[in-house]
Amino acid sequence: MLSALNKEGKHITLIQSFFNKDLIGRLRSDDYFCPLCKERLIFKAGNIRIPHFSHRRDSACTTFETEPESLQHLQGKKYLFHFFSNQGLNVSLEYYLPDIKQRADLFVQNQSQSFAIEYQCSPLPKSLLEKRTKGYKSKGIIPIWIIGGKPFQKSQKGVFHLSEFHWSMISERQYIGLNLLSFDSESSRFYLLSNITSISPKIVSATLLSRSITTATLPLKFPYINKNNNHTLWLQHKRKWLQHKVQYGNLVHDHFLKAIYSSGHNPFLLPPLCGLPVQHMECFYSYPLEWQFMIYLECFRKLQVGSRISLKYVNQKVQAWIKEGLIVPRTFPLEQNISWRNAVEKYFSLLTEMEYFSNLGEDLFEMAKQVKTPSSTEEAIHWEETIFNRLNDKSSCNEEMDESCFFFGTAQVPIA
Ligand SMILES: [Zn+2]
Repeated sequence: MLSALNKEGKHITLIQSFFNKDLIGRLRSDDYFCPLCKERLIFKAGNIRIPHFSHRRDSACTTFETEPESLQHLQGKKYLFHFFSNQGLNVSLEYYLPDIKQRADLFVQNQSQSFAIEYQCSPLPKSLLEKRTKGYKSKGIIPIWIIGGKPFQKSQKGVFHLSEFHWSMISERQYIGLNLLSFDSESSRFYLLSNITSISPKIVSATLLSRSITTATLPLKFPYINKNNNHTLWLQHKRKWLQHKVQYGNLVHDHFLKAIYSSGHNPFLLPPLCGLPVQHMECFYSYPLEWQFMIYLECFRKLQVGSRISLKYVNQKVQAWIKEGLIVPRTFPLEQNISWRNAVEKYFSLLTEMEYFSNLGEDLFEMAKQVKTPSSTEEAIHWEETIFNRLNDKSSCNEEMDESCFFFGTAQVPIA
């Protein structure tokens, strides 16, 4: 931590950019105490880490992490502190909110809004992320979670690998969809990974933008984002995944394969409406082909043209599969309003656009066209490609990001 009380009860912060020997000597000669638990703290100033305070290893303090803070965390907090102060905002370091018993790394206020900045360099359990987010919101404070380091594990040609930590830190905003904001103290740059779209449970396509903290101003703007919603790569991965599944999948334990074969289907001749990329498909760890095939099989395969089906019914089915462990959902602790139900809803909107259904109301759909199964692999590939070409055309009309709408601006409130 970078703040403490001295013997006289005065608040000391180690926010200076430079420490000379004299200053370190003077700091060493004093005693320091945690502002919250009042335990005695250790002042540390070594060669590697920047000067900071820390609790003793056996500390009972629950409000400050007793784990040693990383250089990235200490340094990042300092950079961000100076960044917000230089923009003329009121910034408090390691600010404690007693009502909700939470401590924000930085607490930033402008004329109309308060922001709790959480600079997160290591994984935190989802339940804690959720609890802290709710806590801030309950006080009308906007939580902004910033990842320490790069917002991905590794990247290759616009394709990014995300760890579970990254997934847990995703938030959603207008124009930029699912996104991750990070600050890398080593390069002093902000990174924004936007329009995150899953290709597989760990791999996503997304747009990466970055800007140096030294030239950034508020509202924090990034250059224009060209949405890259070309689904060609997605389709390639889907085909590869299916190949692999059929070749190596276990017929006794693999529910998806069992469902395919026991219903008399050929895995390579599935109706083309199974396995489509839809918005919010990230809410399932399971592949879209798995959950969409289940919905097709159990909910509307035997439905006659003119018959009706409700989303409520479909959701109940999906819920039951989740309970049985046949399908695995993913939650976003910072965005409690998005769930797998959004993905199911988007799937039905897409089926409606493809004229398989007509929408009779918010929740009610009428079967409008018989679902056909391809009779040869050539036909399957042709149908699939026709659909994907149409999906690509649809998303190629790029929406340019409204520049005025970004972090800490006026139209700034996260959509959730
Ligand atoms: Zn303490």
